[in-house]
This record gives sequence, C-alpha cells and structure tokens, in this order.
Amino acid sequence: MADTTQLLDRITAPAGAGREIRDAATGEPIGSTPELTVEDLDAAIARARAAQPAWAVLGHEQRSALLNAAADRIDEKAESLANLLSREQGKPLNGPNARFEVGACSAWLRATAATVLEPELVVDDGQTRAELIYRPVGVVGAISPWNWPLMISIWQIAPSLRMGNTVVTKPSEFTPLSVLALVSVLNEVLPADVLIPLPGGRELGAALSSHAGIDKIMFTGSTATGRKIIESSAQNLARLTLELGGNDAGIVLPDVDPKAIAEDLFWGAFINTGQTCAALKRLYVHDSVYDEVVAALAEVSARMRMGNGLDERNVLGPLQNHQQFTIVSDLVEDAKQHGGRVVTGGAPASELGENFYPITLVADVSDGVRLVDEEQFGPALPIIRYSDIDDAVRRANGLDQGLGASVWSSDRAAARDIAARLQAGTVWINSHGGVDPRIPFGGVKGSGYGVEFGVEGLKSLGVPQIING
Ligand code: NAD
Repeated sequence: MADTTQLLDRITAPAGAGREIRDAATGEPIGSTPELTVEDLDAAIARARAAQPAWAVLGHEQRSALLNAAADRIDEKAESLANLLSREQGKPLNGPNARFEVGACSAWLRATAATVLEPELVVDDGQTRAELIYRPVGVVGAISPWNWPLMISIWQIAPSLRMGNTVVTKPSEFTPLSVLALVSVLNEVLPADVLIPLPGGRELGAALSSHAGIDKIMFTGSTATGRKIIESSAQNLARLTLELGGNDAGIVLPDVDPKAIAEDLFWGAFINTGQTCAALKRLYVHDSVYDEVVAALAEVSARMRMGNGLDERNVLGPLQNHQQFTIVSDLVEDAKQHGGRVVTGGAPASELGENFYPITLVADVSDGVRLVDEEQFGPALPIIRYSDIDDAVRRANGLDQGLGASVWSSDRAAARDIAARLQAGTVWINSHGGVDPRIPFGGVKGSGYGVEFGVEGLKSLGVPQIING
C-alpha cells in the first residue's frame, strides 16, 4: 500500500543500520527500526526539557487545538497506520482490532482535548482562601507494551501534552515501527521537541526510567518491569503511573441466558487474540449453567476466523511474538496434564503460521493450576465451576492482581453488590474490558497504581499547587 510505504520511508533506519522488524503473521520483513542508545537519551531528554516551558505557556486552549489537529491527521492516515499496525502487531484490520485501535487514538486525543480540569476552591470561609491548581510535571517518560502499541502510547501521550508536559516515548522493542509512524503523524502538527520518540530495547527503558531529567513515568507493561521502575524512582523521585499485568476474573451467576451473553464473553476474553491487559482471563461459572455457558462459548468460537490480519475475513491473529506463543502453549499443556478438558483448540495452529495458537477453552480446571493462576495473555481461557458465590468471590480475589473483573447476571442489583466485593480497579457488569476516555481506569494490588483517563487522568499528569491567600 503506497501510503504505508511513505510512512515507513519517514521512520525506518537507513540501509544497513537498525534492526529488522518482521510481519507477525508471515515473518516477512517490514522495515528496520532505528535503535537509540543510552547515550542518545541525554540529548533527547535535554531537547524535551528545553521545549517544555514554551509548550506550557501555550495554555490549555491552544494545546487542545493542536491535539484536535493531530487527531485529524491520524484520521487522514488511518488506513496506512492500521495496515502497518496489523502487519507488525499481527492483529487483523477487521473486527475490534487494527482499524478500531487507530480510531481509538484520534477519539482519545479529541476526548482528552475536551476534558477540563478546573481549579478547585478548597477553603473560602471569609478568613482563608485556598485554591488547588495543577501545574505541569515537566518531562514525561512514556513506556509502552506491544499488545495495543498505538492506543496505549496515546493514552500516555495525550494527557501528558494536554497538561503542558513534553514527552519522550519508548515503544516496545516488538512494535516500534507502528509507534514511530504514529509519532511522525502527530509531529506533523506539534511544535518541535514536544514529543520525541525513543526506539530501543529494555535497557533503554531502564535508563529512561532512572534518568535524572525525567519527572514522571507513564508505564504500561508487566508487573515485573513495574517493580523495577519503582526501584528506579527511588533515585530520581519520578512520579509514577503504573498500568501492570492483570488476571481478570469473570463471575457468571445462575440467572444468565448463556446464549445471550456468549458473544460478549467471547470478546471480553479474546479481543486482540487475548493479548489485552484487562481481558477476561479466568471465568467462574455457576454449576447450574456451566455446561450451557461452555457450549455457547464454543459455538461462538467456532464462528470466529483466525489468520493473516490483512485478510478482511479474519478477526483473530497470531500471538505477536514467539515468547508469548510459548507462554500460552506451555500453560495449556500444563492445564491438560492437571485434568483440564480441552473443549476447543488446545494445540498450535501451525497450519496458519509459526505463532498462531487457536482459541482454546479449557473446562474443568480450578485454582492452583497455572493457566488459572498466571496471566496467559493469549487465546486460552480456563473455565472454572463454582456452586457458592462467596467461594467464587474469594477465588476471584485470591490472586495478587486486580486490574478488572466482571459479573454476569440478569439482576443488576445483585451483580452490583458482588461487584463491590471484588478487588479490581474496574468491575464491569455484563461486559468485560470496555474503556472510555471519560472514565478513570487503573489497577490495584500487583496490577499497579494511579489512574488514567478523564479528569483524574489529567490530575496525574500535573503537580498539585495550592494558592493560599
Ligand atoms: P514488558 O514489561 O516486558 O515491557 C513493557 C515495556 O517496558 C517495553 O517497552 C520494554 O522495553 C520496557 N522495559 C523493559 N524492561 C524495562 C526496565 N527495566 N525499565 C523500564 N522499561 C523497561 O511488558 P510487555 O510484555 O511488553 O507487555 C505485556 C504486559 O503488559 C502484560 O503483563 C499486560 O497485562 C501488561 N499490560 C497492562 C496494561 C494495563 O493497562 N494495565 C495494558 C497493556 C498491557
């Protein structure tokens, strides 16, 4: 596609330099990513720091106007960006995948531009007058993962810029080209050095998060890396927003109509072929509807096509990388050895390509099996039987993660009561995983701390200041 080639020409490393990136589905080369070193970091942060005061002085209205203009540019290049994303990440163009992700980027920029953080009058009693305002933090380091590389980068970049900060953004080493392309589109309208891309590996991420010139880290990725970033912040006192791993539980109550909820359960678990932080990763189903729910999910799974993302018929793709493919296959093998009953899938879909693993439903497993206790981050769902709701709640809360959860019932009040007992940053009722730029999102326990989105998200990209008098 001509436009994608133009985007690639802007960002790829010169011939002979850089690191080759391959199509996740076919293994064919897409282009070479530049790789920056720790030495390049000082210069990038110095440029971002120098650009920050003028960016802050522009004010909210002008910054919002630029975010809206950037959203328009994304919409103009949407198909090229989606095409590149589909090849590099593996997610299909069609379904809730690559086009959906690019659309979310412009939607998020516009919603962030429209969100207003008003000064708060804290005390005004005739004697004391204290007002709370938010100043920019300074330079934000944004570090993103490979599963939703564009959308998550925008979640970090948009509120940072909106609040008057400048940003250096480090994409995952698995999906740098899509993010470099996105940044180059945003930089068609942003002033120089307000947003600087930093393609590179894990060591560059570590150097960025511990750098003395960084004031805030927006991090989305694994819990293990999140812990390292917390350690680094002891040195530079960078403020942190940490969106870490999840192992979301869904609880299905006895009063559901299994066929009616099956498609929403399916996408709750398998959006982006399961490579989603707040996907349904453990499904607890009441004994009285267990067999019907498993059968209804299997029926939906059979209808969903997996394959090369550029084929419009496909709505599921490969695992993005071999490391993740191995994690998923190992967890399924282990579940089989521990009595798990494979309802569908259960062995690599090698006929589709190297890193394809089919939708896999594993019934009759329980807590204590690795597929339940560990984050699979792929297309394998353990379905666990329960008979006592208190027991299901206890098991749902039994892990050290708490990003999302869901309750499925035709009785909203009953579902709401159970939702309030679940240890998770978001609990959905009769759906799972939907996010909205107006609604705060974040995890508890090992899923991290801090929230993104909405007014609360803007506050986390500012430094509170009291004006007293
Ligand atoms: P990862 O932690 O391996 O990598 C994420 C990013 O951190 C990459 O850019 C990587 O280069 C960088 N990095 C690696 N080591 C670093 C270090 N020491 N210091 C600083 N940066 C470092 O995660 P991943 O495998 O790319 O992503 C998958 C994980 O992300 C899953 O656990 C998933 O649940 C989680 N995730 C969470 C959310 C959320 O919103 N909570 C969203 C998406 C993904």
